[in-house]
Amino acid sequence: MKTEFTAEQLAIPAIARSNEILRSCVHCGFCTATCPTYQILGDEMDSPRGRIYLIKDMLENNRPADAETVKHIDRCLGCLACMTTCPSGVHYAHLLDHARSHIEATYKRPLFDRVLRWTLARIIPYPSRFRLALRAARIGRILGPLMPDPRLRAMLALAPDRIVPPADHDRPQTHAAQGTARKRVALMTGCAQKALDSEINAATIRLLTRLGVEVVIPEGEGCCGAIVHHMGREPTFNLVEFFDGKVTAWGIVQNRSGEVVQRFIVNIDGSVQGDELVLDETFQYIIGEGVTERVWRLQTNIDGTFTGSAGDIAGLATGTAHGNAFNFVYEMDLAVDGATYLVAFDDWFFAIDETTLMNRSYIKKFGLVMAEVTIFMQRQGK
Ligand code: SF4
Ligand code: SF4
Repeated sequence: MKTEFTAEQLAIPAIARSNEILRSCVHCGFCTATCPTYQILGDEMDSPRGRIYLIKDMLENNRPADAETVKHIDRCLGCLACMTTCPSGVHYAHLLDHARSHIEATYKRPLFDRVLRWTLARIIPYPSRFRLALRAARIGRILGPLMPDPRLRAMLALAPDRIVPPADHDRPQTHAAQGTARKRVALMTGCAQKALDSEINAATIRLLTRLGVEVVIPEGEGCCGAIVHHMGREPTFNLVEFFDGKVTAWGIVQNRSGEVVQRFIVNIDGSVQGDELVLDETFQYIIGEGVTERVWRLQTNIDGTFTGSAGDIAGLATGTAHGNAFNFVYEMDLAVDGATYLVAFDDWFFAIDETTLMNRSYIKKFGLVMAEVTIFMQRQGK
């Protein structure tokens, strides 16, 4: 399949990966034969091939998801039966994940959908909450036909008659191998599964121990995160929240050969002033240059991107959030050995958690990377 992503789009790792996958699809349609939603609904937009086209259009044009696209992507069961029949090895799973996170970031669902998804994300991954909800659903089943939303009716109808209590074999322990132990595995007992049918883990443990495998149920394990991941949620980075306060950063500059040519510490005093985020940066260089200062003024645009300016920045900087990453692009007059060069900065921030960021900047001249900057940033509070 021909794709037309721009060079800037392809610099984003998730887009580059989706581009490769899209290009591997030869639109033969073999996948439609094994797709349950296509078999039942008979609409090309509810087939893997149709969804691939919808995803391509949305990503290539950097278009916010619309209700029609969301409907067809939501109907995908994520069963991946299509991947088993694809002769071209199209990695549909990654495309689907990418589409769902794009939808989550760009589409505002109706209020009821948002409440429903929020509730499911807070119940299903926690077995004790899920058991309680299943008990309530069993009682609420009699009201099922009165429910206004068909999804609620379907959920109530699916509630099992028997709610299984927590099983002993799922508790943290080591299940000894039968005979001589040949191997040792850690078993994730899961979340929703053990509330619905504890026999699945029991059968897995029986099979493994019979084959001479010691099975360890680790302490403190929980949901793997698949439920919220398949809802399209990713840890997101909020630039304003992170930088509204004091941040300390430690960085190095490496030349093209990887040699460290500078070390520095930056103290950033951030504040929201009207509709601007103002970052007052004080750089303390270890080698030679002493202390320098820069003040960034950043504004949020209507489409969620940022525009920034600072004294030594040529023109305006533009910033775009990508899930837990943030990309800032700008040009700067860089002083090197008494001369000044106009260079381009391709600046990437990656959120580790709410108080920690990693930053990688690529300093380019004529499109070639001349130096790289790596910075570790830690939020110190207000
Ligand atoms: S079978 Fe594979 S190559 Fe053919 S249309 Fe489906 S995804 Fe594309
Ligand atoms: S994951 Fe399943 S439902 Fe979705 S397109 Fe593939 S076969 Fe169809």
